[in-house]
Amino acid sequence: MSDASKFLPFTKPTIDEETIASVTEVLRSGWLTSGPKVQALEAQLSEYFGGRPVRTFNSGTCTMEIALRIAGIGTGDEVITTPNSWVATANVIIETGATPVFADIDPKTHNIDLDKVEAAITPRTKAIIPVHMCGLPCDMDKLYAIADKYKLRVIEDAAQAIGSSWKGKRIGSFGDFASFSFQVNKNIMTGEGGCLVLNNAEEVRLAEKYRLQGVTRSGLDGIDVDVLGGKYNMTDIAAAIGLGQMKHLTEFNTKRATLAKHYFDSFGTDFEQKTGAELPVADFENSNWHMFHLVLPESANRAAFMQQMLDQQIGLGYHYRAIHLFSMYRDRGFTDGMFPIAERIGKQIVTLPLFPAMNTEDVERVVSAVKSCLL
Ligand SMILES: *Cc1c(COP(=O)(O)O)cnc(C)c1O
Repeated sequence: MSDASKFLPFTKPTIDEETIASVTEVLRSGWLTSGPKVQALEAQLSEYFGGRPVRTFNSGTCTMEIALRIAGIGTGDEVITTPNSWVATANVIIETGATPVFADIDPKTHNIDLDKVEAAITPRTKAIIPVHMCGLPCDMDKLYAIADKYKLRVIEDAAQAIGSSWKGKRIGSFGDFASFSFQVNKNIMTGEGGCLVLNNAEEVRLAEKYRLQGVTRSGLDGIDVDVLGGKYNMTDIAAAIGLGQMKHLTEFNTKRATLAKHYFDSFGTDFEQKTGAELPVADFENSNWHMFHLVLPESANRAAFMQQMLDQQIGLGYHYRAIHLFSMYRDRGFTDGMFPIAERIGKQIVTLPLFPAMNTEDVERVVSAVKSCLL
């Protein structure tokens, strides 16, 4: 039953009693840091991604940073990425000493425009970090054709894309590095956390070193540190949550798709034409429906719209403001007008509520509130 007086957030995790019990069990066991639960989660993820090696970390952000380090990227290198993402995607490039280069996005998919990526390649370009925005994958054929042609590494920021696919193949089961986030808002979560899908045993060895202070162990008391690593390991507490979430991943994503379909049905075919707002690409083949975005018409003031929705007990998100317009990026020489599509999306986008515990009445409540604001 829909309850119009009840606050509807834009997202909320679903956690079952079994998961809560398994976290309690970890706490009682006395082994809280990385241990058997982390190993079990990595094994399950590896199976999920078609047998490719997987290692877990304590955030999606450090997962991407470690991928860049494994790829040997640092000072003097350029990495091409999208201005339409959470700032983490570009911050990790700077963190390694490399230079972020942005390419504007496609106005429909909101993913990086691969023609603009190709145009931005220079002799210093070493890698591309595309984002599968809202779980809608980039054109993987075109992406990897460019990577092959220019001998570039790819770190897929698949933070939002667990369970998404491309031509029947799961994102993360093919390609180069794929980085996932288990931050609490994602389709499955561990509170905070992430994982990296790797290519081979040598990359796994490096991932484990960078994850824990650059340490290599041999025998019972043998230890050396030959590279600078950080403290990026996942705890067994978090991994227990992840194992509980993995059981529901398919069910969660199916529910998200059902709700997304109901959004389209409830908005109706004339909604865009009547309001000037834009609905997302209705991709029910590939997307995991991590978020349902609405681009408001130029005439609408986003803050006022969000307030009107809030007055009706509906919480919205906005994902994302264009990265290059943040002060730190302006300080590095980026200005207004450089990536106009990402800038327009960054100003006008809102994220409507979408999470597995919602029901179709909730969707209808959101749609009628949106219509009351825009029509
Ligand atoms: C969530 C997210 C990140 C960061 O992941 P954390 O686990 O919060 O560090 C990076 N990129 C995208 C696209 C995300 O959605």
